[in-house]
Formats: sequence, structure tokens, C-alpha cells
Amino acid sequence: MSWNRMLGHDRLIKGFQAVWTNQRLGQAYLFIGPRGVGKFTFARELARAILCEKSGPGLEACEQCRSCILAGAGTHPDLLMAAKPEDKNELVIAVIRDLCEQLVRKPALGTRKVAIVDDAGEMNEEAANCFLKTLEEPAPGSILILIGGPSADRQLRTIQSRCQIIHFAGLSESNVRQVISSRKEPEYSVDELSIALAAGSPGLAIEFAEPHFRELRQQLVADLLKPRSDAFAWAEQWLKSLENFSKDTAGQRVTSRMLIRVLIELARLAWHWHLGDRAGNAEISGPVSQFAQRFSYAQLDQLLFRLQKTDEQIDRMLQMNYAIESMAMDIVPVG
Ligand SMILES: [Zn+2]
Repeated sequence: MSWNRMLGHDRLIKGFQAVWTNQRLGQAYLFIGPRGVGKFTFARELARAILCEKSGPGLEACEQCRSCILAGAGTHPDLLMAAKPEDKNELVIAVIRDLCEQLVRKPALGTRKVAIVDDAGEMNEEAANCFLKTLEEPAPGSILILIGGPSADRQLRTIQSRCQIIHFAGLSESNVRQVISSRKEPEYSVDELSIALAAGSPGLAIEFAEPHFRELRQQLVADLLKPRSDAFAWAEQWLKSLENFSKDTAGQRVTSRMLIRVLIELARLAWHWHLGDRAGNAEISGPVSQFAQRFSYAQLDQLLFRLQKTDEQIDRMLQMNYAIESMAMDIVPVG
């Protein structure tokens, strides 16, 4: 049945089944956790189960009733979706206003309405203030599921305080492999290093393994590890590659943050390597040991701190060339 598709989040499934059985389902949830671990898929399965006409004590979608079929086809009138528009950097008020207007109308089929708000961490202040009224006085029978980022900090405190926060953890590597093999996409194979670097996120593993990105990340890592790497040239190469990779700055920011994520995970694995934890096959241990030999234990600590800081700067829209160049000066080892 439907929850079977959801791997690695058994604790959360049981939690929702328990509140459902005890008729204590909340009206607003904020899902927090790493990118690509299945927060959105979980929200969709939960919505289907809540709206199912035959959902019993197990809170499970029957997949056969009218509601399940409409939800599966993406045409359920009481399952509302909102997300950041493709051409925007943030979730804007027009989207939220439209959602709120739909939420006040009576459910078309049953007694409930479920709204899934993706990219909720990117809601701008105006949109968040507009949404607050709906959160404070939700229409009867409505359930709101907000999909946030890795931490709740991105949400306005007023929004956070009106939601039950649900934390999603990364999946085990075997679950990551299972999720990837159960998907029709991608058409390319996902290598073991991408899985290791993705730290429990099938979505991220797939993005890391995308052939163009893979080539880019391998090049940048190889240049960083060269005996005589030049910080300025390295930063220039990073910025130039981005232009080939994505036309707009929003896409370039996403790619830069993915590259930073790769370096953070490589640094973490190298850090463990220094501590004697050297598991993994040659595909993983080769790049990790190279990284560990180039950076001492103390340097890795500094590197991790600097990468996190750069990620935050890019997230906060600091000029990308400034962020990347100043990071390069700090992290590229001299000599
Ligand atoms: Zn059903």
C-alpha cells in the first residue's frame, strides 16, 4: 500500500498513524530536514491517506477510492499545492493569497482539505504575513503541511510557533540505493561516491551524479588537491564553469551550493579518515584519502567552518564572485 513506497521514515509514519487513531491530527505541520530525503513525497502520501474515503485506523490510502485516484492523478479538488514560481527566487504573496482563498471554500468531496506548501523556507515576509492569518484561524477540516529546509530558522518565528515541527533525518545508504533503484529516473547511473556524499539524501545523490555536474565537481576537486593550486585561478574556474552550467544567477547559486555541499561532505569523510574510519570501496576511499592527505585534521576543521559560512553567504544573496573568491583564499592550501 501507499506507505510502502516511503522508505526510511517509519518512525514518522507510526507517529502520524498514532495521532490519527487518537483523533489528534494537528492543523499545521512544518517539515524540516535535509534536501532530497523525501519530505515532499511524505507530505503527498500523508495527504492521500488523510483524504482517502476508506482510510481506517492505520491512516493508509486505499489507492482505489475516488479520492485516492484523483489524488494520484494530481487532480484532487481538496488537495492544494503551492510552491515558489519557477521564475522567482522566493515564494511570493500572490501564490499564498490564491491558496488561502481556496482553503476557505468548503471541501468538494469529503470533510477535509489538505494544502502542501513546498519551498516554505523561501516564503518572503509579505507572503508569510499573509499566510499567518490562515495559520491562526484555519478553516474547519483544513490541514496545512509546510515543507521547509534543513532547519526551521528560515521560517518567521510567528510561523514556526503555529506549526508542529516534524524533523526528517537522512536515510541509510541501503535505503538511498533502494529509493534510487525504485525510480524510473534518472537515466544515468548513480555512482557510489555520489551516494556517500549525499549523506542520506536520494535526491541529492541523483543530482550529484548528473554527468555534467559530476564532471564539474571532479574537476574542481582535482584542482583543489593539486600540489600547487592557485586560489584565485581556482575561484575563477568555479565562476566560469557556473556560466556554462546555468544561464541565470538563481541556477548558478543552486549549483554553487551543491558544489559546497560536495566539498563539505568530502571534508567530513576525510575527517573520519583521519580518525581511522576508512570504510568504503575504492570508488569512495580513493578520493577521500586524497582529500585527507591534502588537508590535515586541523585544516579540515577550518575548511568545514569556512564552507558552511560561504553556503550561508550565498543563501543570503551575497555577491557570488565575492563569496567564492574570498572562500578560495581561505581554503586553497598554499604550496
Ligand atoms: Zn482511498
